[in-house]
Amino acid sequence: MVNLFATPDPVDELICSGKGCRAEAQWGLLWNNPKIHTPERRKVWLSCDEHLAHLKEFLNLRGFLKDVVPVDVLEKRDEL
Ligand SMILES: [Zn+2]
Repeated sequence: MVNLFATPDPVDELICSGKGCRAEAQWGLLWNNPKIHTPERRKVWLSCDEHLAHLKEFLNLRGFLKDVVPVDVLEKRDEL
């Protein structure tokens, strides 16, 4: 469930964050490291379908994962 009080960082190019992957991102993984981020902060990793499971597991293992959302709902940085 999306926490409406959380504020995901705006995203730039919709390119997968997977290592060496340049595929178009379909998903945003919203995460928070309580040691360095305020509770409502949401860092965003972008992912293609292929890397979603891997990136999810990486964040889950560390207890950082908050939400997975389609990229459509993410705020884009101001475009020129
Ligand atoms: Zn990828």
